[in-house]
Amino acid sequence: MRVLVFSDIHGNLTALEAVLEAAGEVDAYWFLGDLVGYGPDPEACVQRVRSLPNLLCLQGNHDAAITGLLEIGFFNAEARRSLEWTRHQLSADALAFLRACPPQRVLTSEGITLVHGSPRRPLEEYLLTPSAAKRALRYLETPLAFVGHSHLPLAFVERHGRVRHLVGQPGATFTPQDERVILNPGSVGQPRDGDPRAAYALWDTATHTWIWQRVAYDIGAVQRRMEAAGLPSFHIYRLSLGR
Ligand code: ZN
Repeated sequence: MRVLVFSDIHGNLTALEAVLEAAGEVDAYWFLGDLVGYGPDPEACVQRVRSLPNLLCLQGNHDAAITGLLEIGFFNAEARRSLEWTRHQLSADALAFLRACPPQRVLTSEGITLVHGSPRRPLEEYLLTPSAAKRALRYLETPLAFVGHSHLPLAFVERHGRVRHLVGQPGATFTPQDERVILNPGSVGQPRDGDPRAAYALWDTATHTWIWQRVAYDIGAVQRRMEAAGLPSFHIYRLSLGR
């Protein structure tokens, strides 16, 4: 089975469409959370994702905040402004969908945990360093975890009690051997690794092969919609930088 693993769309429909087209035909869609927040198209993104076949959809911290499940004070001032705007764009139907998504799912037969942040704190924790990954791995009940949240394509690989960090270069593949691994596909709608292209990954359940991918999209068109909506200028600007 070929699976599109993607995360952190953040209301960016243009990036989402580019990823869906570039990924081509897949057997399943595993979305790791943060459908909304920051971007100009929250309702369209929710409706597009929920219409995908064989979808597993997680809730991210922005999705939880929008629906009132997470305290909004957790976010900085600009993110709060963006969340307030987003909440007013969403239909009752879209809000109910986001509220019903879990922040974590354990796929026991696959040996994979899907979680937005980390197995230690599913909605909140950012896994940025090997030491944070090592601590989080203690809470992991499966050999593999697919995470989002940091917007960075990467892998943390634990072998003989040591954790190393790999950067997920576009086109690079990774096949877990006899080790525990945390994999992050990067962000569709707001990359932060210095590459502004939309990020995603493909997972082959038969060969146990993961591949990081990037695809260019029309960033200017998204920025113009954000300007028209009066969204914070820093969030508009950072899309060009991929930071
Ligand atoms: Zn996010």
